[in-house]
Amino acid sequence: MRSITDYPPPTLRCQSCNAQHAIDSPIWRCPCGGLLDVEMPPVFPLDQLTERPASLWRYRETLPLRPTTQAVSLGESMTPLLPVSAGGRQVFLKIDHLLPTGSFKDRGAAVMLTKLREVGVTSAVEDSSGNAGAAIAAYAAAAGVSMSIYVPASAPPAKVAQIRMYGARLVSVPGSRELTTAAALAEAQQSYYASHVWNPFFLEGTKTAAFEIWEQLGRKVPALVVTPVGHGTMLLGLFNGFRHLLRAGITARLPQIIGVQTANCAPLAAAWSSKQQTLPEIVAGDTIADGIAIARPPRWQQIVAAVAESSGQITSVTDEAIRRALGSWSARGIAVEPTAASALAFLDQWLATKNASSAETVVVLLTGSALKTSAKISN
Ligand SMILES: [Zn+2]
Repeated sequence: MRSITDYPPPTLRCQSCNAQHAIDSPIWRCPCGGLLDVEMPPVFPLDQLTERPASLWRYRETLPLRPTTQAVSLGESMTPLLPVSAGGRQVFLKIDHLLPTGSFKDRGAAVMLTKLREVGVTSAVEDSSGNAGAAIAAYAAAAGVSMSIYVPASAPPAKVAQIRMYGARLVSVPGSRELTTAAALAEAQQSYYASHVWNPFFLEGTKTAAFEIWEQLGRKVPALVVTPVGHGTMLLGLFNGFRHLLRAGITARLPQIIGVQTANCAPLAAAWSSKQQTLPEIVAGDTIADGIAIARPPRWQQIVAAVAESSGQITSVTDEAIRRALGSWSARGIAVEPTAASALAFLDQWLATKNASSAETVVVLLTGSALKTSAKISN
């Protein structure tokens, strides 16, 4: 296998104008306004994995960091891939809510804050409905980066309290989730936008979930991966990770990626089924799945394209189905937050229609802890 020095260095690439920017530029979007993605050389430390600690940093060569940079770490170990019996067959649950702040967002926050400290960013802004804010506040505290987190006034109190504990400056914004983003963007004009949505380094962290799944399945790609999808930070991470393995010549195919939305706020599912070139305008209703209640995800075209390339699907489940899944899976000892239970609700419906003896390997991402929304669940 070729080494990293055989390839051009990583760069930032604009989705709109295709411009390239140096990987160490302290920018979060292209000067044209476009979204940025990291372009990494297709290298993977295949021969060194067995000697390395069980954390996401074992995939270090796949991350856009200088070799000498010290990781900002809070002990983000590899999360379990738990085999369980459901619908008369085996499925695997990726227990990503066991990361330090209780959600998969720690993957993105760890890598993004490591990169920000590396390039000398000392203060930044983020907006979040909860889990990303907590993850970024925690890793910013560990990195010594001063962070302002904008949250919608409707965010679950337990999530807001967690952000406050990490010492971030908390700004509560009344009204829609989109108004929260607008307020954060206004401050970001004088600061740096450490957004889990816009910032390309965040997505580099979430791709490590795909590497772990591949390793934990005995270095195999599953047939199906199911994840909740709102802004797409996990879905795109999974896609980028599995595509990285494919490009590195380690695997031969992508898994089918299933993105699950809440029926009360499902613009991606609407875009998927209508095959339109614009994101359908939707009126977001109240939902128990607060983490994926995103009416206008900026990376929507990228999400739809990734799911299409994987031969997957974007779909939605009702709050009623989410509540049923919460109840039935909690009664088996698997308790997650409602947003994460959307993927379990899809699984339950899929198992009811599928041949239970199917040999396909199915992985469901459990993205957030029940402890974050216990008040909401108990109501
Ligand atoms: Zn551009």
